[in-house]
Amino acid sequence: MDNPRRALPSIEVTVAHLQRASNVAALPHDLLTAAARTTIDEARKRIEQGALLERSEILEQAEITANAVAGRLLQPMINATGILLHTNLGRAPLGTSTIDAIIHASGSTNLEYIIETGQRGSRHDHAGHLLALACGAEAGMIVNNNAAAVVLVLATLARGKEVVVSRGELVEIGGGFRVPEILAETSAQLIEVGTTNRTRLRDYEKVINDNTAMTLKVHASNYRMVGFTEATSVAELATLSVPVVVDAGSGLLDRDTPWLAQPPSWLADEPGIRQTLDDGASIVTFSGDKLLGGPQSGIIVGTRVLIERCKQHPLARALRCDKTTIAGLQAVAIAYLDRDASQIPLWQRATAEMSELRARGNAIINTTLSLDRVAVVDHEAAAGGGSLPGHTIPSLALAVVVSDVTSALRHLRTRHHIVAIARDGRVLCDLRSVGPGEDALIGAALADLIATFAP
Ligand SMILES: *Cc1c(COP(=O)(O)O)cnc(C)c1O
Repeated sequence: MDNPRRALPSIEVTVAHLQRASNVAALPHDLLTAAARTTIDEARKRIEQGALLERSEILEQAEITANAVAGRLLQPMINATGILLHTNLGRAPLGTSTIDAIIHASGSTNLEYIIETGQRGSRHDHAGHLLALACGAEAGMIVNNNAAAVVLVLATLARGKEVVVSRGELVEIGGGFRVPEILAETSAQLIEVGTTNRTRLRDYEKVINDNTAMTLKVHASNYRMVGFTEATSVAELATLSVPVVVDAGSGLLDRDTPWLAQPPSWLADEPGIRQTLDDGASIVTFSGDKLLGGPQSGIIVGTRVLIERCKQHPLARALRCDKTTIAGLQAVAIAYLDRDASQIPLWQRATAEMSELRARGNAIINTTLSLDRVAVVDHEAAAGGGSLPGHTIPSLALAVVVSDVTSALRHLRTRHHIVAIARDGRVLCDLRSVGPGEDALIGAALADLIATFAP
């Protein structure tokens, strides 16, 4: 009998095969070689265990492996989950003016350069300054994300000192960002006050001493306490003798949402950055890519003196962000200053009328799909990204009956780069988190789904 190992192709032959395969041909040679080697090694093991493999099977497997490699590259996805700020899908979608600004800033810029005098400037003079203006703060600066913003503020103002936090706000934000651990990392001493459900001004008052750096309020972004609860407001804390620092999380610039016709009801009691400052916070930190709707970044706004100290801290250099982020954020800040939500896809999607979503859903069905297996159904979208826990946004989804929901969802992800959800044995694509420009792709993908997964 033939040596079964004869079926094993060489790495060269396998790579040459992959270079002719349409899906993976463009991958760098080294990635194809690695995929070929993995496949051949596995095939050799299986042959040694007695499997009889054809060369064509092994080449096919190499293609599957190379496809998996391609699938791990960073690439565009369509978010049909209904979670508008999906952290795993990159949070806020960026608008055209933001993307244009990022492209324009790709070459040389006046990032840290004063054009008039030719002297060195500050990278915080652009977006940081404009965002401060947009929420009524004296000054502002930008860092890499809100976690970095909190770290910088604590390192600057509280190293070796005491920070008073309510026990109800010692939260974990997700991705392992825990308030007590961050405090420990910055060598600030955490002074816990109150109880999980109730903390009063008197609790803070009792512990404040000469070594207290600040009271810190942390927005309980990703959970909600209901029932017998009481928290001390920023306005109350501002009556104490130490600065109030607020980690606001989401970055709703203004509760009154002057960039919208009216504040949406699902914003509920989400605090605005402007109002938090008006209430007397000395510093507020928030994310650029949550309710602000910009690129990943952290924004620190507050009094000029304290922001200046943060800028001077050595960590500011380590946590700063690059020209493209600052350019994108500048465009977002300008949209807010212009009260123009049309430039911010997050607000466009969050506030789209139900009638508009219904029209889009019907149009997709009418143009591409067989009506009997697809329906437009009610669904609940959510802000996500740890914003507005417990509040949902009324939405609509396209629901498709399929034979196997798990395989169908996988098919949508791998073949069409669409992340949808399972509900009652159906595949749902929420239309609120999908950009209107993506409707045709959703239609084509669902038509394929219907053909591939007939019940
Ligand atoms: C999301 C969040 C953070 C972390 O912000 P990133 O921008 O993701 O680093 C910190 N604090 C609160 C309250 C948050 O909601």
